[in-house]
Amino acid sequence: MEYAVTHAYKDHMELIKRNGQHMKSQKLLSYTRRAIDDYNMIEEGDTIAVGISGGKDSLTLLYALAKLQKFYPKSFSLYAITVDLGFKDFDTSGLERYCNRLEVPYFVEHTQIGEIVFDHRKEPNPCSLCSRMRKGAFNQAAIRLGCNKIAYAHHKDDVVDSFLMSLLYEGRVHTFSPVTFLEKSQITLIRPLIYAYEGEVRSFALKNELPVCKNPCPADGVTKRQESKDIIDQLRATVPEIKERIFSAIEGADIDGWTRH
Ligand code: SF4
Repeated sequence: MEYAVTHAYKDHMELIKRNGQHMKSQKLLSYTRRAIDDYNMIEEGDTIAVGISGGKDSLTLLYALAKLQKFYPKSFSLYAITVDLGFKDFDTSGLERYCNRLEVPYFVEHTQIGEIVFDHRKEPNPCSLCSRMRKGAFNQAAIRLGCNKIAYAHHKDDVVDSFLMSLLYEGRVHTFSPVTFLEKSQITLIRPLIYAYEGEVRSFALKNELPVCKNPCPADGVTKRQESKDIIDQLRATVPEIKERIFSAIEGADIDGWTRH
């Protein structure tokens, strides 16, 4: 927990040093549009579902896509979906108001994933099963609503963390792609926030008072991803531009899905 505060603070200070201010809506839209154009994420007539967990990343992504929808040359529809894991006192009213304000139709997919993972299966490492089930429930809800695409809110730090995890724990040069066709669900996954740093997303959510909710899950979420963030944090002490360098290397390497259109 202490780490998270330190990391957030460092990112925030780095952002202020770089920009002298919080990320503005214009910059967020520019990152989003560039990613969409570079990797051909949106086609005319697409219907895209955005999963709204209540975290800063997904709320920022929904904001960006809802604003972009007003002027992007290809017309597309949006839905926002929250997968309710069934934890007590999970209140979606703030998320519903936010979606109404952005004029995006909002749906809650009620599930018993929390009960299955914690009470029935008593998983020692609940996050892996939980996130698989949550993604499955989200994909099914998106398909039911007639969506042909789903959007995840992975940002630049996630791309770099995932790259480092593959390198350190699997010994391979890999990270997730900007666009992935999911064979099993027959739906395309897009990641329009890949050019925005986590610190910028955090500052945007703070500045614009997005309705970020506390995760009601009892698991504390310490994962290998946290370890790779830790390693990057240590390396940044000697190479301050390390994230940008790794990201450029990913763009320049022959990694599946990273060829620009
Ligand atoms: S922290 Fe809780 S809600 Fe999040 S993936 Fe893990 S088990 Fe699921």
